[in-house]
Amino acid sequence: MRDSPAGYRRPEVIAQVPAHQAQMIDAVCPGANIRHSAGDLEAEYHPVWGPLVGVRLGWSKDDELRRNASSGGGLSAILAQLLTTGAVDYVVQTSVSPESPVRNALKISTGRDDVFHSAGSRYAPSSPLEDIGKRLDADGRFAFVGKPCDVAGLRQLARHDPRVNEKVPYMLAFMCAGVPSYRGTSALLKEMGVTDEADIAAFRYRGDGWPGFATAELSDGRRFQMDYDTSWGSILNRHLQFRCKICPDGIGEFADIVCADGWHCDDNGNPMFDEQDGRSIVLTRTRKGEELVMEAIDAGMLVTQPLSIDAIAQMQPFQARRKGMVLPRLAAMAAVRRKRPRFADLALAENTRRLGLKESLRSLLGTLRRLLAGQGTE
Ligand SMILES: Cc1cc2nc3c(=O)[nH]c(=O)nc-3n(C[C@H](O)[C@H](O)[C@H](O)COP(=O)(O)OP(=O)(O)OC[C@H]3O[C@@H](n4cnc5c(N)ncnc54)[C@H](O)[C@@H]3O)c2cc1C
Ligand code: SF4
Repeated sequence: MRDSPAGYRRPEVIAQVPAHQAQMIDAVCPGANIRHSAGDLEAEYHPVWGPLVGVRLGWSKDDELRRNASSGGGLSAILAQLLTTGAVDYVVQTSVSPESPVRNALKISTGRDDVFHSAGSRYAPSSPLEDIGKRLDADGRFAFVGKPCDVAGLRQLARHDPRVNEKVPYMLAFMCAGVPSYRGTSALLKEMGVTDEADIAAFRYRGDGWPGFATAELSDGRRFQMDYDTSWGSILNRHLQFRCKICPDGIGEFADIVCADGWHCDDNGNPMFDEQDGRSIVLTRTRKGEELVMEAIDAGMLVTQPLSIDAIAQMQPFQARRKGMVLPRLAAMAAVRRKRPRFADLALAENTRRLGLKESLRSLLGTLRRLLAGQGTE
């Protein structure tokens, strides 16, 4: 994997791929294909929110971790639980690169402190599966944390490669609205007032509170900040790759556990981004995911409270509508003869019906306009 000139993370072709491997990639790669397998689903399938065993709000009982994390530290609390009990030997996750405070890197975590330092959202490309072949051959069992598409890819690999279920007992994801390129990070830093990225000693996109601030600390001690609503809503989300615009699973349907921001809402039902004590939506999608959350609660690592399924849509209004936009956008791709990924068993048609004719047409025409203008190739 390498960073492309446009600032995305892309596989590099280093040799001819034999036909049987090309077939495997086509079956497993989430860029080509995402589908549930009837045998994989252990819970009732909610058309909008996917398979659901347990629905909760939660946060880390460890106040430092809760503050350092992205929302409530739900994911990190569960990872810390897994490492503390020895249920896994290590965790594969994404953290700040040791080479640059504004780049991401795959991180192998073996204890609570590693998990603590990797907590928080990094709104830039990541490739936590980049050495998966080597990892599946190596000793030890690990928990995997990634974007929903990373987890879908690993789950689909498990259908063909028995090492996955032997070596990866837990797969965790966060809800994902899309990955901005590193150009997004540069645009953000510029808007924050940082003139030279080489001067940055430390950088975070959010966290240290909920949602916290994008914060850059320079080597000379100066500090630059920007609030979450502006950094994500006005800058970073303008740098998303096209694949994220047709993503049928931003909600981690293939994970054992998925966490998301449990935003408080105003009287009109709109999420509010003023600073609060963090809280995560914690959804379990498999029986072992549910058992793990119960263990983390019993061990005093995770605090939870009940949440109704209907409340998820209020806290995550974009994700609630998003699956509905996929078929209209794929139709726009078909109209200009663009190759499309294959998505199945994700209730996309039902979500498009829920979205309604007007919004669906708007999605189709907007995508068509962008494609005809030559966009959507990133
Ligand atoms: C690109 C991106 C888009 C997101 N979109 C949404 C959204 O639409 N709705 C929503 O509610 N939440 C979204 N989030 C996630 C959200 O910000 C929180 O991560 C989520 O609420 C879980 O919080 P937590 O406190 O439990 O996580 P933490 O305990 O802070 O753990 C976060 C975990 O995510 C991993 N991680 C961080 N950045 C990346 C990355 N780039 N790639 C892979 N792994 C990473 C870390 O290694 C860590 O394990 C997004 C995050 C990212 C990185
Ligand atoms: S939006 Fe979908 S395709 Fe894009 S990074 Fe997130 S999970 Fe992957």
